[in-house]
Amino acid sequence: MDKIERMSQTVKDFALGGGAIAVGIATTETLAGGPPSTDLSYVLPDARSAIVFALAFEQEVLESFLKKEDMGGLNVANRRINTMASGIALELSEYLTMKGLVSVPVTANAVYRKDVPGGAYSELPPLSHRYLAARSGVGHFGLSGNIITAAHGAAVILGSVVTRADLIPTEPLPAEDNYCDECHLCQSSCVSGLMSRTEKTEVSLGGIAFSYSRRLSYSRCDYVCGGFAGLHPSGKWSTWSPARFPIPEKDEAFLPVLLKAAEPYKKRVKQDFGANIYHPLTPGNRLEFTCGHCQFICHPDKTVRQERYKMITGSGVVIQDADGCSRAVKPEAAVAFLETLDAETRALYE
Ligand code: SF4
Ligand code: SF4
Repeated sequence: MDKIERMSQTVKDFALGGGAIAVGIATTETLAGGPPSTDLSYVLPDARSAIVFALAFEQEVLESFLKKEDMGGLNVANRRINTMASGIALELSEYLTMKGLVSVPVTANAVYRKDVPGGAYSELPPLSHRYLAARSGVGHFGLSGNIITAAHGAAVILGSVVTRADLIPTEPLPAEDNYCDECHLCQSSCVSGLMSRTEKTEVSLGGIAFSYSRRLSYSRCDYVCGGFAGLHPSGKWSTWSPARFPIPEKDEAFLPVLLKAAEPYKKRVKQDFGANIYHPLTPGNRLEFTCGHCQFICHPDKTVRQERYKMITGSGVVIQDADGCSRAVKPEAAVAFLETLDAETRALYE
């Protein structure tokens, strides 16, 4: 085994030993021709390779969240898995740099390019972990555009390290092993309509083509997953957000409604889960994770996906009590509850 082979094995062992369930290596060659968010030199000039890895959620915590029985468990898990992914990236990057191989960690989430029109609010990441993950065989692209894995579905968080080290790239997983059967349940469980039902995005990475449903304006997901609103247009089910501001149809209408909903968002009491999520773009900084449906519905077993769809759509709508705690009730009970509130309090929700 030569030096490059040895180091390539070491970085993989390093990530797996830290808790990753899968790891891959992408290089400037295997990412050639990709979108700007696959440009390793944006993160580190003269970068040669990137190590990308996935950490998995415990499946148990997902279903109590989707059934709207427990919001806190998944919020805590989300915070901690992101922290672990970013921590592995930092450790591995420092290890390589100490060995004379200059490297930088890429935080798992909530870091954005500031030198683009719109700055951080453009939400363009320095590097897209998911492109690297698909190209290096960590997982497949699902129709949702999320990375899906045979053992944990889409319930994973990704992290990366960019390095000047020459490493041996790993190959994509065989396309025929991708369990995504285009069931569309990710789209049906999305209140915001982020994922196009008719159009796909195609990318080429190092000569290999990948595709997933085209994403409409990211303001859609910001508005719903960010917790500014969460009631499905049918009025029959919601995310964990107690806010029921309107869900527009057109992309360009999302940013104005989001800005309008920012003040009520800030004023609503946030629950203390003990391991809270802070997000630099969220009004008041505290992010309550209220959705993630497209990710957490996507289990490798289609029957489980169908059951989870029923959990999401059959568990009613969320209201918030005066102490800040949220709970799911029947749609009619939510309407009756809101009618009991004084005008000022009610304006926090609709
Ligand atoms: S929910 Fe269905 S369509 Fe969406 S990514 Fe998963 S398997 Fe594919
Ligand atoms: S996180 Fe929620 S709002 Fe965002 S795309 Fe997924 S399902 Fe839609």
